[in-house]
Amino acid sequence: MSSNNTAGQVIRCKAAVAWEAGKPLVIEQVEVAPPQAMEVRLKILFTSLCHTDIYFWEAKGQTPLFPRIFGHEAGGIVESVGDGVTDVRPGDHVLPVFTGECKECRHCKSEESNMCELLRINTDRGVMLNDGKSRFSINGKPIYHFLGTSTFSEYTVVHVGCVAKINPKAPLDKVCILSCGISTGLGATLNVAKPKRGSFVAVFGLGAVGLAAAEGARISGASRIIGFGVSEFLCPKDFEKPVQEVIAEMTDGGVDRSIECTGSIAAMISAFECVHDGWGLAVLVGVPNKDDSFKTHPMNILNERTLKGTFFGNFKPRSDLPSVVEKYMNKELELEKFITHEVPFSEINKAFAYMLQGDSLRCIIRMEA
Ligand SMILES: [Zn+2]
Ligand SMILES: [Zn+2]
Repeated sequence: MSSNNTAGQVIRCKAAVAWEAGKPLVIEQVEVAPPQAMEVRLKILFTSLCHTDIYFWEAKGQTPLFPRIFGHEAGGIVESVGDGVTDVRPGDHVLPVFTGECKECRHCKSEESNMCELLRINTDRGVMLNDGKSRFSINGKPIYHFLGTSTFSEYTVVHVGCVAKINPKAPLDKVCILSCGISTGLGATLNVAKPKRGSFVAVFGLGAVGLAAAEGARISGASRIIGFGVSEFLCPKDFEKPVQEVIAEMTDGGVDRSIECTGSIAAMISAFECVHDGWGLAVLVGVPNKDDSFKTHPMNILNERTLKGTFFGNFKPRSDLPSVVEKYMNKELELEKFITHEVPFSEINKAFAYMLQGDSLRCIIRMEA
């Protein structure tokens, strides 16, 4: 294993710190402590902005935790590793992921689950598991982590269970978007909905996640992909009758598969009720409001429709993401169409503006000038 001159040392570097909810991030000089047991320190090369960053930065629906370093979609290179880390070493190219895979728990050992007990997403935690402390500080004052990733920093420390080691030939400025949203939508289709070649697929919500679900349908050979959620496609508000009835008329009784990526409870119910009886399957991806409840007549289920939900597209981050990267490398999966903007790290607040204005699917933030 090659040693480098920063291993074991505190690294001083730039990070975009959110000092307060909803206020522009400030590029600060931070200190990043060395990785502890089962942790790795990464040099982030590219990161991108996801709605989840915005949601927690705005801090309207949860207990605010500031100052904090956001960011959870990224590509980087391992700088150094802590005790007990054997899966990755300095120089490896990796994608940090907001949810992990310890490989030891019942979920990790189940072929059917990716909801690791140890490293499952925790939006409230702002510290590392090993010692309950942050690895980031400014003049000795801790700056909190976000989703165990905090990729809006030139260097970050992540649990080894939350990094996927990928093909070093893969361009990190493209595959970094597989850390979260794109894999979530893609996996919902490829791993859960599993449409057969020639089938009809409806996708609700045409942001990055919904478009990735549609990309999964394209890869699966769906013959018809019906999208809802933006003006040039079908817009549910344009119809007098429930959208599920419109779809049933358009498709001779319903689609074979539907994927719901908005989080709107009405869209979830439409997504379920628009699948064909006898075999239709709907997959819920979007996160609903706290007080929502899902109502449908039980006959819709008795008539042989299936409802499923998924988290991170059912991908196990360490085991499965490398092969998703390979799908991009062998041109089976397109990623360029999701990347609408790019900014240097110094202009990271522009990425927030693009997303808030609804202009961007993914904005790549380049860490090096
Ligand atoms: Zn686990
Ligand atoms: Zn995300």
